[in-house]
Amino acid sequence: MGSYSTQGILLKHQPYREADRLVTVFTKEFGRLTMIARGSRKVLSKLAGNLQPFTVADLTVVRGRTFDIITAAEVVAQFRVSSWKLPALYLAGRFSDIVCNATKDRQRDVRVYELVLEVFAALSVPAVSVGRLHAIAWYGVWRLLTYLGYGPHMHACTACKRGLEEGRILFSYQRGGLVCGQCHAERGTGRMVSANTIKLIRFVCRHTLPALLKVRAASTTRNECTVVTSEYCNYTLERDCKLLSVLRVR
Ligand SMILES: [Zn+2]
Repeated sequence: MGSYSTQGILLKHQPYREADRLVTVFTKEFGRLTMIARGSRKVLSKLAGNLQPFTVADLTVVRGRTFDIITAAEVVAQFRVSSWKLPALYLAGRFSDIVCNATKDRQRDVRVYELVLEVFAALSVPAVSVGRLHAIAWYGVWRLLTYLGYGPHMHACTACKRGLEEGRILFSYQRGGLVCGQCHAERGTGRMVSANTIKLIRFVCRHTLPALLKVRAASTTRNECTVVTSEYCNYTLERDCKLLSVLRVR
């Protein structure tokens, strides 16, 4: 059997058979991998200690028939989960799930790998404010969807291709972007979005996370942006990503 080494960030694990775990890792070289960690549910397993979520580890892996098997894990970095405030920890878990659901096994994408590290690092600062949580969620979700080919079209009507005037503008999840009021009236669904939310999503798509974290949005804009982010993510991944409950937006 062949073996290989890779560096990855641990996204989640679940019990597998009697004493094993199935571990989902996003690796730099191979993208998402689901692998078995043998005996890692036994209390004293050293392997288990090195395979906690939000840990970056160097892994030694043996190829298996159904799943590859992790034989050794060396911790490279560990995001300080225990010091996080709970909502930050929940959001890290939600984002891990979104990445697991949005990506496919063995599709390498270093941008996604780096995005996950950036999001976890941003969430592991001591006191995470509500505004910061929302901004990190927008950044993580819109960047991820853009890397996977679902970036939003925010500069012209996705139906008639005309520029967007002031007035009624909607976001269509189906079309993956904005629709003018006239096209909406003629052909279908969408969610009304305010000019401020449109500006904010454009900003998220174009700027770095440090720049975004300096933006102060009114709470109504913030919540609307989070609702559009969450609904588009749910629509695209065909599941409830549960971002709204973590960010306490109704
Ligand atoms: Zn139009």
